[in-house]
Amino acid sequence: IFLKKQLPTESDASWKQGQPTPYSAMAQAFAEIEATTKRLAILEILTKLLVKVVKLSPEDLLPCVYLCINRLCPDYEGLELGIGESILVKSIAQSTGRDVARIKKDLEAKGDLGLVAIGSRQKQPTMFKSAALTVRSVFKQLKEIAAMTGNKSQERKIGGIKKLLAASQGEEPKYIMRSLEGKLRIGLAEKTVVVALAQSIVLAKSKHPTTETLEKAVETVKSVYSELPSYDIVVPTLLRVGVEGLRTECKLTPGVPLKPMLAKPTKAIGEVLDRFEGKPFVCEYKYDGERAQVHWFLDEDGKRKVTVFSRNSENMSVKYPDLVEQIPRAVVDGVDSFVLDAECTAWQKADEANGQKARLLPFQELSKRKRKDIKVEDIKVKVKLFAFDLLYLNGEPLLHLDLAQRREKLFKSFNPVADEFDYTISKECISSEEIQTFLDESVKEGCEGLMVKTLQGEEATYEPSRRSIKWLKVKKDYLAGTGDSLDLVVIGAYYGKGKRTNVYGAFLLACYDSDNESYQAVCKLGTGFSEEDLELHHSTLKQLEVAGKRGYYDVGEAKPDIYFEPKVVWEVLAADLSLSPVYTAAKGLVEQRGISLRFPRYIRIRDDKEADDATGPEQIAEMYRKQATASKSGKGGADED
Ligand code: ATP
Repeated sequence: IFLKKQLPTESDASWKQGQPTPYSAMAQAFAEIEATTKRLAILEILTKLLVKVVKLSPEDLLPCVYLCINRLCPDYEGLELGIGESILVKSIAQSTGRDVARIKKDLEAKGDLGLVAIGSRQKQPTMFKSAALTVRSVFKQLKEIAAMTGNKSQERKIGGIKKLLAASQGEEPKYIMRSLEGKLRIGLAEKTVVVALAQSIVLAKSKHPTTETLEKAVETVKSVYSELPSYDIVVPTLLRVGVEGLRTECKLTPGVPLKPMLAKPTKAIGEVLDRFEGKPFVCEYKYDGERAQVHWFLDEDGKRKVTVFSRNSENMSVKYPDLVEQIPRAVVDGVDSFVLDAECTAWQKADEANGQKARLLPFQELSKRKRKDIKVEDIKVKVKLFAFDLLYLNGEPLLHLDLAQRREKLFKSFNPVADEFDYTISKECISSEEIQTFLDESVKEGCEGLMVKTLQGEEATYEPSRRSIKWLKVKKDYLAGTGDSLDLVVIGAYYGKGKRTNVYGAFLLACYDSDNESYQAVCKLGTGFSEEDLELHHSTLKQLEVAGKRGYYDVGEAKPDIYFEPKVVWEVLAADLSLSPVYTAAKGLVEQRGISLRFPRYIRIRDDKEADDATGPEQIAEMYRKQATASKSGKGGADED
């Protein structure tokens, strides 16, 4: 579409070659994006802006990308926005001279701090004009604010926010506030930003590229980024060598965690054979621990480094100092660098005196561990690593190899170490009966079920960040007739009665729609909690209570008594899914109505997941459709609400 439209020129009076990108240009683009729901229009608005940035102020491309996706750095560096509501309310109050109570009232009415910030400014006479904000100055200040810790950090943060607000004009305070909150909520998905980024690089160089060139560029940038998820590296490289040179310069690099490959749920064992249609596959025990991506490499000073990353690319080395100490004992001589995909589990050593065999412990044992300040000598529960994939070895990425080839390299690169390191137990099953027997064995050993993976050819390469059909999960819960579990965000609660007077009685749960950065209510949950659970949830969630429903909560007809900041994720199981006149999850994907859970039951806290890693509407729609198909073929299914 935009090939036909006129591209921006360098003649814009407000922004000249070599000058910093005005933040007003970014805010203007955000406002235009927010005003439309059309994907192509959003892409066009952003691409136009980025083309201009590439042409006029290329060094602003990186901060532009980060501002669009609401991040400050790659995930693994751990610097995040997401400033609490009370600090933001205080900052608006102090910078506009209005009192906190009034701002809170406004927030209750408008549900959006961005709108409150704009509204508050308009009531303020402008004494003098500060220098206009630029993209790079805003980004730098956001980074500084996020990095403030320790003594008086709250006051210092408020000071920084006040400065930003004082210099902002027009719509700018709205987007500054939302950036500070960590959610832009203009309907700009990261995948759109990546497409716009790739296209802008091509379009800035040539005015009339073919559609094919543009499509190829997008595909290259997407695939390179999934292998090396660091805009800090990818964006400057794109500017330097263009899309053509990107693949040779940017490859999977130890030290930069890639987004792990994920699996599709299956409802029954028979489905595995149907899905794989005669392709060779391997079944592996599905251990109930925490995903661990282990990177082993020499750093810039030539020192050996072992880093363990979580499913979300967080550095877990501090949480698992014992694991970091154990790994070198399993590495075969001659292995200089690797990236290993594995599951870290809680492990009980054998107690020979009492005749007890070594065994897996449940996931809950891991979640009791502190996240930092852990000393190896204080650790009570041991961990053992079960390796299932090798993604990089001695300087070479292995993602393009098939699983059979990767496994061959994996088995040659490590030695099992008792109580510390092993390979996942695996078996090449052929029939449903064999899979069933292997599943039963896995459950007996304390596993959650099986992972079933294709082995050969194009069908078996490693696909970072994809929930791929190449991997299927078969959990033991399916045997009990329930579906896959969901990971949902707690966005509200209902007051308790009777025994639950001093805690919350029930909760409102939501899925996360990453395209719109919104939370869609999916069910009210009041079952599955022990008394201790309820007390713990009460003390955690109490601190997250907010004034009124947020604008980005789409709750339909649900009416909880209290709302929370979206931070806590729980795993929930349900009897099945049903169409709902009340809840809004996956609305419009299957039908105009939303989808809800029937008989939802609390399973556990998922503290390895952030709110935006929660189950998404597409997944819920897919679960619903599969269940509907199963019910047609007589395998049980959905009821209408
Ligand atoms: P998902 O990661 O699919 O969003 P989830 O985090 O709830 O969902 P599960 O649905 O339980 O995880 O299944 C995938 C997870 O199983 C992996 O991320 C990994 O941590 C774990 N796992 C255990 N054993 C294996 C194995 N043999 N191969 C791959 N993953 C395994």
